[in-house]
Amino acid sequence: MKRTAEKFRQDLRTLGISGQAVDAVWPSWWSDEAEQSNSAQVELRFTVARRLGLSPKSLLGEEEPTFVWRHEAKFKGLSTYGSKEQAALSSFGISLARILSKGVRATFDERVIGLDPLRLRGTLLSTSPFVRLQDICAASWGLGIPVIHLRVFPLSAKHMVAMSVRHGDHFAILVAKDAKYPAPTAYHVAHELGHIASGHLAPNAALVDMSEPLEEKSVDSEELEADSFALRLLTGQASPQIEFDQGPANGAVLAAAVMRASEDSRIEPGTLAMCYGYQASDWATTYAALARIYERPDDVWRFLNRIATRELDWEAYSDDEADYLRAVMGGVELG
Ligand SMILES: [Zn+2]
Repeated sequence: MKRTAEKFRQDLRTLGISGQAVDAVWPSWWSDEAEQSNSAQVELRFTVARRLGLSPKSLLGEEEPTFVWRHEAKFKGLSTYGSKEQAALSSFGISLARILSKGVRATFDERVIGLDPLRLRGTLLSTSPFVRLQDICAASWGLGIPVIHLRVFPLSAKHMVAMSVRHGDHFAILVAKDAKYPAPTAYHVAHELGHIASGHLAPNAALVDMSEPLEEKSVDSEELEADSFALRLLTGQASPQIEFDQGPANGAVLAAAVMRASEDSRIEPGTLAMCYGYQASDWATTYAALARIYERPDDVWRFLNRIATRELDWEAYSDDEADYLRAVMGGVELG
């Protein structure tokens, strides 16, 4: 049967890959002329295979396209994905870790495994008043672990909060959940760093957090370990107890209380408000407080991907690879 790009596109959609992801992984050099060339059709399939983690052989024969990393994922929290979707998500993530690794300047620091979060906190506090989102990102990139916010999601339904992935000795943290304030994302990144530091990832594997780790009190031992890492890094304590003179009745009271307490405790005010949410299981008040703590809401994904754009060595990529990465990161410009 003659290979056509249209048929290939349909096969990818049948696998559950979102239209947005198919567009992003499609090479920018593709043209009507290429459609007629057998070698271009083969190159197209190899390129897409590398980006989605599909077996290139499976794309050239008559068999169904197959993901390389079908069983290498742990899903934490309630997973609404079937096995095909899980394979698509983990293969996409592991492939992305491989592509990102080419442009990460720092080599992966093996001391990350078993890293003491309190020690990292101490280092970060020597130059910052609190451990903020930008401090965790800077530390992560410095340790050779890129952090990006996915603006292209491989599946049509986006249920994931964040994932950590590993390809050989290359790790990456991929955030999916949108946020308007930095504190929730700081927690997500710290939690994923906790999974990596605690050795939860096998050499070619993905760990996918489907639900908000703090909001759903989990009994999964790896979740507890990653939460404990994140809390110690952000607050200095495994289960911070926040004392208030009188219980915060609303967002304004909580915002004022955490702004007052943050300097002495050296905990970022938004993070401190989230600790209250966790302690009191009162997320409505927490989110109302976040809106008062920060000057204005902002797209946290732009912030993360601006850091990533600055950190990556773009010289390491071909034009087509760079186009792909920019698409995955939502095309942010350095601001
Ligand atoms: Zn987790």
